[in-house]
Amino acid sequence: MFLTLVLIGFLAVATIVSVRWVLTRVDVLGRVGPFPKISVGLCLAVAVGCAVPLGLHARLEHRLQDGASQVAGGSVAVHCQTAGETWTDLGSELGYVRWTAEGVPERRTVIKYRVCGDLRSWLSSDKRDPGEDQVVAVHVLSHETMHMVGIDNEAQAECAALQRDAEMAEALGATPTEAQALAHRYWVEVYPRMPDGYTGGCGPDSRWDEHLALAPW
Ligand SMILES: [Zn+2]
Repeated sequence: MFLTLVLIGFLAVATIVSVRWVLTRVDVLGRVGPFPKISVGLCLAVAVGCAVPLGLHARLEHRLQDGASQVAGGSVAVHCQTAGETWTDLGSELGYVRWTAEGVPERRTVIKYRVCGDLRSWLSSDKRDPGEDQVVAVHVLSHETMHMVGIDNEAQAECAALQRDAEMAEALGATPTEAQALAHRYWVEVYPRMPDGYTGGCGPDSRWDEHLALAPW
């Protein structure tokens, strides 16, 4: 939001300075004044400097949204928290989905700033040997996607998500081998360390085993 305002502001200033030059460029003696190249150029440089990160942010959200929609089996929205939004954020969760007063989940999730950064770095990597933060970040998107399709129980959402981590990783561009390795790492290395409330009822032939082909066990 802040960058958008700065972008609009500097574009407006560049326009005003240019229009002012057009209207006043010829003085009373008929001399044509020089175009204010430096001020307009600086304004445009700042505007471009804001447009680049805004474009990258929108592109990242689109890629995540496409992957999440594929796993959700329908259109969902993904918002990556911006650096500015972290200033007022006191929550420790890695992402969230809001529920309406009627008890229906919104088909929109907010993924926290740091997690989106890990997703971005994973997307631009060769995906062969992801760091643990990157593995967790892909899983966070799966987990929030499970909330968006209506699962409110945390342990069940966690179990449904880890059975879809490979599908999510593939939807985001990993090869089947890379995707399965990532899902397996979450199941073996991260899941056992999850706090109470997120675990239980998960595993082969357990309560929440959906017998999916790409389950990590
Ligand atoms: Zn959750």
